[in-house]
Amino acid sequence: MPIFSYECKDCATPFQTLVRSGDEPACPSCGSHHLDQQLSLVADPAKGAENAGQSMNCAGEPGQSCSMCPGMAA
Ligand SMILES: [Zn+2]
Repeated sequence: MPIFSYECKDCATPFQTLVRSGDEPACPSCGSHHLDQQLSLVADPAKGAENAGQSMNCAGEPGQSCSMCPGMAA
């Protein structure tokens, strides 16, 4: 499951969440669905490396963890 970063448009709370296909994430603070999706995890892997469990550069098989995927154990 990909991890996406969002910022709530209603209360400006930034958060990250796992999003399954068909799932609509909600703000953990106010429950709003008015969210801005942030792409910082993809655009700046160095900054978010510890959260980049679903790295596009993963050398392992899909669904398997590897040294590039510290977040897969969560
Ligand atoms: Zn909110």
